[in-house]
Amino acid sequence: MFGRKSNNDSKSKTEAKFPHIGGLASILKNESISVPPIPESTKVNSEPDLPKPSPSKSVNLIQEVQKFDDKTIKPFIDYTEGSIFYPVLSNIGETQDNIAYLDDLVSDGILAKHIYEKLIVCPIHPTVFSSSMRLYCPKCHSMNVEKLNLFEHKKCGYIAESKNFDFSNIDHSVCPSCLKEIKNFEKEIRVPAMWYQCEDCIEKFDNAVIKLHCRKHDHDFDTNSGKFITTFCYKLKNSDISNISDTTQIKDELVKLLRGFNFTAELNSLVKGKSGNTHEIPIFGKSKSNGDSILIFIKNQSTGVDESDMNSILIPKLDIDPKNTLLVTVSDVKEGVENMAKHYGINLISDPDFSKIISRVEEFVSAWYANNGGRK
Ligand SMILES: [Zn+2]
Ligand SMILES: [Zn+2]
Ligand SMILES: [Zn+2]
Repeated sequence: MFGRKSNNDSKSKTEAKFPHIGGLASILKNESISVPPIPESTKVNSEPDLPKPSPSKSVNLIQEVQKFDDKTIKPFIDYTEGSIFYPVLSNIGETQDNIAYLDDLVSDGILAKHIYEKLIVCPIHPTVFSSSMRLYCPKCHSMNVEKLNLFEHKKCGYIAESKNFDFSNIDHSVCPSCLKEIKNFEKEIRVPAMWYQCEDCIEKFDNAVIKLHCRKHDHDFDTNSGKFITTFCYKLKNSDISNISDTTQIKDELVKLLRGFNFTAELNSLVKGKSGNTHEIPIFGKSKSNGDSILIFIKNQSTGVDESDMNSILIPKLDIDPKNTLLVTVSDVKEGVENMAKHYGINLISDPDFSKIISRVEEFVSAWYANNGGRK
């Protein structure tokens, strides 16, 4: 349904690279779990299906981003169309404007989202990004405004308007006063003053009137009245491909597992709690036979799992109040985490071996099912 396994080519590539994944798939096959299609009506609290990252695609994207010096995916802005897109996405077969795909990788902990820039756009036509700055004479509102500078030749102290200095010959410019050659403009010339002059009314002034011009609809607007459009860039957080691949594979396998136990299971599901707040849950499952729900959190980080990670899980856990909550991790578990998990009824499954995690989750769900008289 998510089209994840439709590409056989990429799947076999992944299996070759990560042989344990293939082994796992066969374990699941031996269990002869059937994955029933999920009717739309039984879906609970989930957003409409968005394309979800597939492991091989994510790995391809990471490899692409690793080629960039700053390991950052930057937006490209089409000012005439008023669209923001990410060209690199086309290299992995995604549409260039699929921002939801990048955001999913953010919630997976693969990318970090940062503000790239704030564009000032026309308040009347905010979907048009092409605005440019215009300078006007404050007296007659003419656009025929020139910039005037005073130049000082540091060596001899001669000061004159810039038009008196002839810098048209780049190789040979001389000071009009001492006639010495000026070799380095930056070092030898000081700019003690700058102002504007209107060519139409000859008025001289320090500050021109600055307006922004909406190019498509051909009108000016005040700089202060402009609206902001925020664009984002995405920086690669963790460049360890096997780590990332493991995380996405664990998620995929856990979703398959839950569905095999007759659960609806959604990745990065938005679930509403008792407070009315919505929480994004890495995996949210709901039993089709008795409505029991399960939250599964996945942590895979070199720094290990600490109490602050537990706190971030506790908030949605207490608010949603599911039948079961699992925290699975291949990372080290810091002191105190285990007790905290026990105290709040969170089942902690920690094992450096990813396939062992899957079988332990399977044991857990299976035991839960047996106690509730559920049937596969
Ligand atoms: Zn406009
Ligand atoms: Zn003027
Ligand atoms: Zn001079």
